[in-house]
Amino acid sequence: MSSNGVRTVRPTSAGQLAALQSGELPRPERVADKVWAIAAPIPEGSVTYTLSYVLVSADSASFSILDPGWDSPVNLDALHRSLGLIGLTLERLSTIVATHHHPDHLGIAATLKAMTGARVVLSREERAVLTHQLSPELRSPASYTPVLEAWGVPVAHRAELLAAFARPPVFSDIEPDLMLDNGDVLDLGGHTLTAVATPGHTGGHLCFADDERGLLYSGDHVLPQIHSGFGLGSLPADKPLPDYLTSLQSLQRFGGYEVLPGHEFRFRGLDARAADICSHHLRRTQRIADLLPELGDAPVWDYARRTHGPGWSRLSGFFLHAALRQTEMHLDLARSGPAVLGALTEAASAGRAG
Ligand SMILES: [Zn+2]
Repeated sequence: MSSNGVRTVRPTSAGQLAALQSGELPRPERVADKVWAIAAPIPEGSVTYTLSYVLVSADSASFSILDPGWDSPVNLDALHRSLGLIGLTLERLSTIVATHHHPDHLGIAATLKAMTGARVVLSREERAVLTHQLSPELRSPASYTPVLEAWGVPVAHRAELLAAFARPPVFSDIEPDLMLDNGDVLDLGGHTLTAVATPGHTGGHLCFADDERGLLYSGDHVLPQIHSGFGLGSLPADKPLPDYLTSLQSLQRFGGYEVLPGHEFRFRGLDARAADICSHHLRRTQRIADLLPELGDAPVWDYARRTHGPGWSRLSGFFLHAALRQTEMHLDLARSGPAVLGALTEAASAGRAG
């Protein structure tokens, strides 16, 4: 993830903003009637916690949790503590909902399910993505070597890329009790959430809209400052970049909602933020499109080297893989033609104006 420093959003929680700036975990806070935000610590990396949401039922007899976070004793302790502060205990957990399969969102779901018997809810598409991501063939040299060849990766770099790619995934399998498709309505007892398919970050990512409260649970699809990226788990036939841009534009009807994201802080100003994210990615696509007349059918490696600047030679392992993969997705979009790129750019600037 990288920050672009653009501030188009209006933070709606001074506490979450202050915690982010001081590097502390935000305290549990009430977001709306029967809705709480709590922080779920992440063990390593630049993003140090997930924002999880606790949705208490109308009769207060049970609650659901959206994106419970990393599977670790530290996070389980934090969850116990946060629930205690808002007068709840884990025994009353009835439903676990995840926006997508990443370990900082779905991670601890299986542990919580084993402890409490709570049902787990995930999108049908994301279930397929999870299966694909866990398949051993995906990490075999036999499947990755042809990719490296197609990308034009020099032989000297192939061994380190193969080693980085072969590492086992940091998430495990889980069988959801309920799988959702776009538009499905989830009744959580006083919280009616509509599933909004937002493929891109992952192939089966869902946002959830609470029309009654005017809230959009956005997972990692839209964050207030960070670019969460796209294509971080998808099916082979997916087109993560065009999907992501289209998904950003599909949120227009929630422009007036308060956004409850998976990281950083809650905010208003969804339209402008979605347009900024679109523009950011389209600028990168345009830089690659500008090289097409010169580089033509050259492999991904050549385009990546030219567009990454002086930091390119220092990239290795997973980061080199990620740079190549991102370049490939931008190149695919650039090669799909100026009409497609133009239409997306126009849509992004229309969103910004609105
Ligand atoms: Zn995340």
